[in-house]
Amino acid sequence: MEDIVRDRELHEECGVFGIWGVPEAAGLTYYGLHSLQHRGQEGCGIVAVNDDGQLRRIKGEGLVTEVFNEARLSSLPGTAAIGHVRYSTTGGGGIENVQPFLFRHNTGDFALAHNGNLVNSAQLRRYLEDRGSLFQSSSDSEILAHLIKKDAVDRHQPRISAIMTALNMIEGAFAFLIMTKNRIYACRDKYGLRPLSVARLGNGYVVSSETCAFDTIGAEFIRDIGPGEIVTIDGHGIRSLHYSEYRRNAMCAMEYIYFARPDSDIEGCNVHGFRKESGRLLWESAPAEADIVVGVPDSSLSAAMGYSEASGIPYEMGLIKNKYIGRTFIYPSQAMREKGVRMKLSAVKTIVKGKRVVLIDDSVVRGTTSRRIVSMLREAGAAEVHLRIASPMIKSPCFYGVDISTYDELLCARRDEEEARQVIGADSLAFLPEEALFRAGGRNDLCLACFNGHYPTALYQSIEEANRDGKF
Ligand code: SF4
Repeated sequence: MEDIVRDRELHEECGVFGIWGVPEAAGLTYYGLHSLQHRGQEGCGIVAVNDDGQLRRIKGEGLVTEVFNEARLSSLPGTAAIGHVRYSTTGGGGIENVQPFLFRHNTGDFALAHNGNLVNSAQLRRYLEDRGSLFQSSSDSEILAHLIKKDAVDRHQPRISAIMTALNMIEGAFAFLIMTKNRIYACRDKYGLRPLSVARLGNGYVVSSETCAFDTIGAEFIRDIGPGEIVTIDGHGIRSLHYSEYRRNAMCAMEYIYFARPDSDIEGCNVHGFRKESGRLLWESAPAEADIVVGVPDSSLSAAMGYSEASGIPYEMGLIKNKYIGRTFIYPSQAMREKGVRMKLSAVKTIVKGKRVVLIDDSVVRGTTSRRIVSMLREAGAAEVHLRIASPMIKSPCFYGVDISTYDELLCARRDEEEARQVIGADSLAFLPEEALFRAGGRNDLCLACFNGHYPTALYQSIEEANRDGKF
């Protein structure tokens, strides 16, 4: 999926990629990050370890292709690297928040990249600052590094022990990559909220937020890293440890619904397959009498195919996405989003004119995009527009790294289906039931907190922040 569609209404925070034991690791990380570009377009970076154990970093604001070129990549020699693509939510924008972070320390340098969001970051930041930590950035990702190093005076403690202790202090959603000159540690939160997988490439290993990056560089998927697991990768191969006794599976449902690329597999379920099945189930739960099925490009096309197949109503390209807008519309401001929709999408008049259209979209956040697309289809001559959403109503904010914003900004937080339909201006509106998401994924252990308010973690001071931000 391309960045222009990412601007619609929802943003993932980040993507991480790492490689160990393979020549030209930085170049391969560049390709890996390019495959993860849909997870963040505001900044990116790579840290590589060369043969003499030096960690070198290049990072910048912008797309992977804007930040890196051949000369910059060749200045990152070595057989190990980690990389990061960022969309800013917690901590805001700015180069100081672009990852990976690189820490110079007398016990050994290390680099760190993070996808997700910590829910107890404010408490931990206070705790660390009271003990002398000085933060380089406002990103909560830096907190883990300070926790790992806070007991550095105990030099006999193996690094993995310090990492395990630190991971047990943080709460929330995360996939962390930590790289030293000797190894990479790949860590996943104990709720399994954010995806992280490991693959083999030649004599080395690769870790990535999504499996689509493995295919790009020809790596062979081995397995998903489990909730609460640390996978250590070095010259001895891969080893696994669990840092927490408490573990559960609560993968973010939005990864399947919206964020991940359709060619990625998350915990054994292909993303396109999930979306297509959700489209079939959407037809079962909310059939519409119509002439054509139209999906909102790109993330809703798989669900539209499923709806079309199940209903027998032909699938049509009633909306076309402009692929060449570039970065104009990736800024996280509401004003830019509002202006952007018409340039990003066009209705195809000759296809929709006089037709009863079933419009399939993956989700409704603020509702502004849905309203504009419905009116665009009507202006193009659609006789009726029946909106079907391949997810339940989003009623609550997300605290785990997705910028599902305050209650006030969520169209469905305080509206029922009919009230939402009136705001959007569709002839009919229906959402996918929660239970259908479980059926689509063949699992009943997804995080659905933004739909039903059942947060898998404690929320700590996020409630204070939410109060301040008007979330509650
Ligand atoms: S609250 Fe929603 S967006 Fe956030 S992790 Fe859970 S399912 Fe994903």
